[in-house]
Amino acid sequence: MSTQRTAVVTGAARGIGKAIALRFAHDGHKVAVVDLDEAACQGTVDEITAAGGQAIAVGADVSDEEQVAAAFERIAAELGAPTILVNNAGIIRDNMLFKMTTDDWDAVMGVHLRGAFLMTKACQAFMTQEKYGRIVNLSSTSALGNRGQANYSAAKAGMQGLTKTLAIELGKFGVTANAIAPGFIQTEMTASTAERLGVPFDDFIKYSAEQIPVQRVGQPEDIAATAAFLCSEEAGFVSGQVIYVAGGPKD
Ligand code: NAP
Repeated sequence: MSTQRTAVVTGAARGIGKAIALRFAHDGHKVAVVDLDEAACQGTVDEITAAGGQAIAVGADVSDEEQVAAAFERIAAELGAPTILVNNAGIIRDNMLFKMTTDDWDAVMGVHLRGAFLMTKACQAFMTQEKYGRIVNLSSTSALGNRGQANYSAAKAGMQGLTKTLAIELGKFGVTANAIAPGFIQTEMTASTAERLGVPFDDFIKYSAEQIPVQRVGQPEDIAATAAFLCSEEAGFVSGQVIYVAGGPKD
């Protein structure tokens, strides 16, 4: 087994973040399961501990600087210096531009971009000290533009610029930074999109799968497998990349 690390995964109460947390624990790492509501993290923590792993539930709003600082203080004290970080927490507030409120713009920027900035700034202090780090930021195929998602696509494009800059600044400390840009992944987020469009989720999945070259939608485990590679020791020469995990090419 490779060296056991302390990993921090945000938005890990469910969906993609939960799958990443479970995968990291399976790979032998200690995991801080971070989400808005600490109680909601317990399901992920229980699954990890039931399988013999080590994890703690940490309630924090990633867009709140004080809560982020408190979260890292606790994580370092209880699990040791964190050297793997996945900025996965996310929200959607979709609407056509002419109907999009300023609050919906700010909320999406706050969780994705401000959240990733605050979490990464706090975590790099440990990584640079340890001379080792793996950062993965969740972007999206929506970064290339998507109707009804001016806020989300701007934030997800921003995640790519942030990632490349982190790779440049932190490389000399043994820290890599990469982005994963998923296509359609079957989670509560895509279920809520189907609901907003007034389409049954099963029909939405079937229609979406037909448009994807591999003829299926993605599962959270598809993203977890990619994150596991990017956060492994052997991925140390892969940095500043955006990997589209979408069942086909995107550019
Ligand atoms: P999800 O099921 O909605 O899970 C997102 C999690 O993030 C939720 O548990 C949510 O908590 C949490 N969260 C929201 N705001 C937070 C905050 N301020 N601080 C801490 N946690 C917060 O979403 P998902 O589908 O797994 O998506 C995970 C990531 O992948 C997101 O960044 C998303 O944009 C990205 N992505 C998803 C897809 C897809 O098709 N699903 C495609 C491309 C990219 P609450 O439930 O309490 O709000």
